[in-house]
Amino acid sequence: MTENNLSLSRAKLILNLVITIRHISIYPAKHPIVINSIRSVLGFLNDIFAGSPNVNISVSPDKKILVNNEPVEEKSVGDLQGFIPVFNKLGIEGLIFSPGINAGEISEFIKIALLDAQQIRKASDLNDLFASAGITHISAKQFSYIKVEKGMEDASVGAGAKDAFKAKLKDYFSRKISDQTEIAGVETGIFSAVGSELKEKGKVGAASKNLLKKFIMHFEKPDDALGRLKAALIELGCQADSVEQLLARIMDEIAQGPVTRQRTGSGADEARLADENRMLKSKLAALEAQMSSLSDKLAQSEKQNKRIHDEKQRIDNIVHNMAEGMVVVDAEGKIVLVNQTAETMLGVTKDDVGKFLKDVVKDEHLLTVTRKIGMEADAVVEKDIEFFSNNESTKRVLRTSSAVVEDPNGNTVGMVTTLNDITRQKEVEKLKAGFVAGVSHELRTPLVAIEKSISMMLDKSAGDVSDTQKQFLSIADRNLKRLSLLINDLLDLSKLEANRMQLKRELVNIEQAVNDAVSTLDAWAKTKTVVIEKNITPGLPLISADQNRIIQVLINLIGNAIKYTPSQGRITVSCGPEKDMIKVRVDDTGPGIPPEDIERIFEKFYQTRERPSSDIAGTGIGLTIVKEFIELHGGRVWAESEHGHGSAFIFTLPLQAAAQDPTQHGG
Ligand code: ADP
Repeated sequence: MTENNLSLSRAKLILNLVITIRHISIYPAKHPIVINSIRSVLGFLNDIFAGSPNVNISVSPDKKILVNNEPVEEKSVGDLQGFIPVFNKLGIEGLIFSPGINAGEISEFIKIALLDAQQIRKASDLNDLFASAGITHISAKQFSYIKVEKGMEDASVGAGAKDAFKAKLKDYFSRKISDQTEIAGVETGIFSAVGSELKEKGKVGAASKNLLKKFIMHFEKPDDALGRLKAALIELGCQADSVEQLLARIMDEIAQGPVTRQRTGSGADEARLADENRMLKSKLAALEAQMSSLSDKLAQSEKQNKRIHDEKQRIDNIVHNMAEGMVVVDAEGKIVLVNQTAETMLGVTKDDVGKFLKDVVKDEHLLTVTRKIGMEADAVVEKDIEFFSNNESTKRVLRTSSAVVEDPNGNTVGMVTTLNDITRQKEVEKLKAGFVAGVSHELRTPLVAIEKSISMMLDKSAGDVSDTQKQFLSIADRNLKRLSLLINDLLDLSKLEANRMQLKRELVNIEQAVNDAVSTLDAWAKTKTVVIEKNITPGLPLISADQNRIIQVLINLIGNAIKYTPSQGRITVSCGPEKDMIKVRVDDTGPGIPPEDIERIFEKFYQTRERPSSDIAGTGIGLTIVKEFIELHGGRVWAESEHGHGSAFIFTLPLQAAAQDPTQHGG
């Protein structure tokens, strides 16, 4: 044998000793794996015996294994250092193997090596222990004393072998082993480890149970694994019913939850860690995505915030600089906002924000405004109030418009009031009304004189008049009548506006009033060849009304009908009862009123944009007076028309006199 081969045999001897120790720690002594490895040990021993009388294995002070004083350093064959703990535990300097050694002796020697340190220390002489185990071809070269250091017990041969098996298990469970014999070896190891525990104690500990669970779950079809496990355990000499019980309990535990964590590392642990890792990675990815979407949202909301802030700034600027005063109060009546104009108008300051409006503005009108806070939403209350501001002695007139503010749920959250200083406007209106009333009065006196003179000339009290003269005088008379009607209208309007109009109520026969109005206008209608028809329900009750005003209303409506109806037209005045009212209606065959104008023709000075052709220019106050008079009587007036197909003006008057509203039209 060459030196090289010999050196390899030395290394392989040590390696196989280490392997055998591991196998014996896992498998029963009769197991083929154990038998095989013992055979290898014998083979390498014999190789060395061929060149030397015995085999002396020792450890150098620098922890090198020596065989026949030659260091074994064949790294290529595996971990030879695994044999050093045997020396430590046995407390020996060397082991001498002599030729003639058999497999049984090696097996017994290894069993001794696997005893725990304490048991070994109990035996006074290791060689006696060998002898009692029938080992005659191995002797130990012992230390003169044995120093047992703390932790030395842990560095046992058993632990080393177990570590190797655990490493195998780990490879097995993470499916790293492909060799079938090796797989079978690991599985047999599992069976025998669990089997010997079960056989010995009648039950198995948590570690074995976990091992079994992992083993069962390692298979795609756990039933197959279960069957094999059962057969193997029974074959190993375990009681059939305790095997059944154990397996049933394990299957229960598998069904209930995941395998409990083992202290030992294993393939399943690795798989679980890989799973956890994957899960954590996907959670991390989800969190990252969430974070990026959140930061997007944050950026968006920052943008939006800025937009809202800018918008608020803009609105604040508008509110604070507008010509109208603005006061906002909350639901309790506390000031939330006053703009600059309102500050000057009311004499309040920004410091008053947060105080009750009633404590700041000592004016009963404003108080009524705040008290109305319970009013209906979207109702705007308009009011003109006369007001002495804190820093002014002159009286100001403010037009206030107040509206309730509601939140989206319909709860009142406050009220907004805008204030317009209409002091100047009121002064102008007053001046104008006084002027119109004065002028109208001054105009009426000479008109009456002219009217009287013309009628005297027409009835020939002032001498004869020719037919031509009579014709001209009639024209003058007619126009004079219209002029005086117009002046009357103006005078009435100024009275109505100044709330100085008073009704002189008496019992009025409406048919009589219609007859009077028609006879006044009949001559004018005839000149235009327009027919006036009457359709009056006989026996209508008398109504309480101001006769002259009702005739004036009828003259205005029938007069408009004549004015706007072309020749050959027809006017019908109908009159009849309607519930507790009398309804009067003037229909004509004139041009009608466009729908966009129909609501507005009753407004002061309003004339339709497309003026119907007429021989007389209008003023736009006739219908305003009609409306005022009818409403003073407690009635209602409106127009109906299909453009191009005539118009109808309808009014109602209550049979019972309505009480006059003193706040509307006093006198
Ligand atoms: P005006 O002096 O202009 O007639 P009114 O107040 O009497 O003033 O009428 C207002 C406007 O209503 C008129 O200018 C006219 O355009 C329209 N209007 C009134 N009555 C009639 C009618 N019978 N047919 C058509 N349009 C009418």
